[in-house]
Amino acid sequence: MLPVADPVSLIAALVVLFGVAAAVWLMMAVGLRESPWACVSVAGANGALGASFLLHEALGLVPHMDYGWSDFLSVAAFGLIRVTVPLVGDRPAPWRATLLVVAGVGLLTALFTAGPQTLPHKLVLFGTMCVLSLLAAVDAWRLMRARGLHMRAALMLASPLVIVGVLLLSRPMEAALAPGRTEDIDVASAFNLGWLWASLVLALLINGWIAFLLLMKLVLEIRRLTERDPLTDALNRRALSEAVDLEHSRQMRGHGYALVLLDMDRFKLLNDSLGHPAGDAALKALVTLLRSCLREVDRFARLGGEEFCALLPDTGIAGAALVAERMRTLLAEHPFTWEGQAWPLTASFGIAESAREDASAAEVLKRADQALYRAKGQGRNVVQAVELEPAPATKPAH
Ligand code: GH3
Ligand code: MG
Ligand code: MG
Repeated sequence: MLPVADPVSLIAALVVLFGVAAAVWLMMAVGLRESPWACVSVAGANGALGASFLLHEALGLVPHMDYGWSDFLSVAAFGLIRVTVPLVGDRPAPWRATLLVVAGVGLLTALFTAGPQTLPHKLVLFGTMCVLSLLAAVDAWRLMRARGLHMRAALMLASPLVIVGVLLLSRPMEAALAPGRTEDIDVASAFNLGWLWASLVLALLINGWIAFLLLMKLVLEIRRLTERDPLTDALNRRALSEAVDLEHSRQMRGHGYALVLLDMDRFKLLNDSLGHPAGDAALKALVTLLRSCLREVDRFARLGGEEFCALLPDTGIAGAALVAERMRTLLAEHPFTWEGQAWPLTASFGIAESAREDASAAEVLKRADQALYRAKGQGRNVVQAVELEPAPATKPAH
């Protein structure tokens, strides 16, 4: 037995819930500088759903009022939910297409229906809301995947909107299964009560879910700020150090790695000749160019100034030499241009591979640094390697 067997009380609870949620989201839009338009959009969706239920219940009280407005507001609410997800991800929202759908369906239901909903009416109305909800779910899934979430986690996070879609579709389905019965939402049937309870739970779930998405976005943004170099967007020294230490711990299980250390040649001269802004642009250009030489599993970091390092997991010295040589030629073949003036960009490279004898990653980095020093000594724009000295042979015991 459901705790509340009265649809009007449940609808009143929904109206209060949507009203409070709309107010909270509006306050967040003003107070939270992150994604204010997403907050406004969710506030609008909550407000429209609350108003839709309120209007529906007021129909008996206010004469000459038909159901069109109530239906229009529900479709508008799902239109807003549909545009909220891209707004959360700072992507362009499909405003125009959504507005067209909402206006079209709203007009259709407002013009051609009066009184309780018939089956075709329910099909158009709830079908549209279901499609809008599913489109938002697909967008949410894409957003999660783009943020690097695994397939299963992304599907799980997009699922609340799929459940909402199914719930919406259940109304015309129920009407289709019981032809002739055009049961309104405030009739105390078991289906209506179950549906209203589910709506109450899902309303809370969806609001919490959007709040979670925004929170996740903030967390990812903070993480990005702590691990990236603000000028070039390459990893910073700390993030690389963590990645190299992790790779070093994997080495015990037989996974070697290599480091490619590079330092731009005569960079001070570029700064002095073209100016500091040109130097900054050259650093950015280098990162963009050299990223194309790396695999997805590789890491690229700016250690400071004009010194960079690539971490190549599961790579030996020969593989590292290949990557470094590719980087060196690519750089040399693409002169940097500043205000119409071409400036040759080159760098010197030092490479090293990890060895079981290395107590820590610092030893591998030290060898790469020695190799880089050698490359500079050899006149720059070359790749050099320092290999681990073989351990002295131990005399067999007599
Ligand atoms: P070498 O070939 O021996 O490496 O010579 P170099 O001129 O590249 O090396 P040096 O260490 O003498 O100079 C590095 C220059 O890099 C000095 C500094 O002005 C410049 N630099 C460091 N960080 C930045 C930055 O963020 N932006 C700009 N524009 N320049 C920077
Ligand atoms: Mg330099
Ligand atoms: Mg330097």
